[in-house]
Amino acid sequence: MFKGFAEWLKNLKNEGVEHISVEERRAFLKLGLVITGVYAGGTLLSVVSRVREVYADIPEYVGHYPYKPHYSMVLRTDRCIDCERCMEACRKTNHVPPYGWRTRILEQHFPKGPGEWERRFMPILCNHCNEPPCVRACPTKATFKDPKTGIVRMNIKKCIGCKTCMAACPYDMRYFNEEKRAIDKCDFCWESRLSEGEFPTACAKACPAGVRIFGDLSDPESQVYQLVHDPQRAIWVLRPSMGARPNVFYTIN
Ligand code: SF4
Ligand code: SF4
Repeated sequence: MFKGFAEWLKNLKNEGVEHISVEERRAFLKLGLVITGVYAGGTLLSVVSRVREVYADIPEYVGHYPYKPHYSMVLRTDRCIDCERCMEACRKTNHVPPYGWRTRILEQHFPKGPGEWERRFMPILCNHCNEPPCVRACPTKATFKDPKTGIVRMNIKKCIGCKTCMAACPYDMRYFNEEKRAIDKCDFCWESRLSEGEFPTACAKACPAGVRIFGDLSDPESQVYQLVHDPQRAIWVLRPSMGARPNVFYTIN
């Protein structure tokens, strides 16, 4: 079922920027550049302009986010302690079966010294992409982007279980729910909480380490807005080269 993760993990030796020295980071920021991609095996794979990197700041979105609220999540990945309380809360809240998942914690290993490894954790979930390949691929429109909130949701009545969306998602963020006979995935707790006026998502509420910050990216007062727009902060998204423009951002601290 988790075919694809192994390969992803193999390629994502280090999705973070924590190995880049403060001096290097400052130098990039001075140039108006930000580190966006994988820092793997000592090679910096991607450095681009901050303006282009945070998709929400590209010209067509400046000052007018496409959704109101524009739901988004920022993951302060280095705070994750792998307690899995987010996963537990998600399973309970969204009735996720034991074989399925809506969010997971990836484990990465970094060499610390001879024969020594450091474990680090990275939470993952549906990125609620702005250009979602899963929506484009679905032949029945069972997968759709909510025009009000930007959340990528499922209409399970329309799902025929063809799994085309699973193959299309560049992030492996969907699974087939045997009981529903339909695809299931994270919906930012839209059905279980947000639509009932409960905020934030179950995972963000349950996290004891403040890893998951959920909110409205179109609101300058929100924590997600402030984190994503902090000029001193390195913000990155997973696999930026896929062009899916995720609404889930990663940072450290
Ligand atoms: S992460 Fe995958 S499932 Fe989620 S919106 Fe993007 S393409 Fe679709
Ligand atoms: S499995 Fe369901 S949601 Fe996925 S592409 Fe087929 S019909 Fe659409």
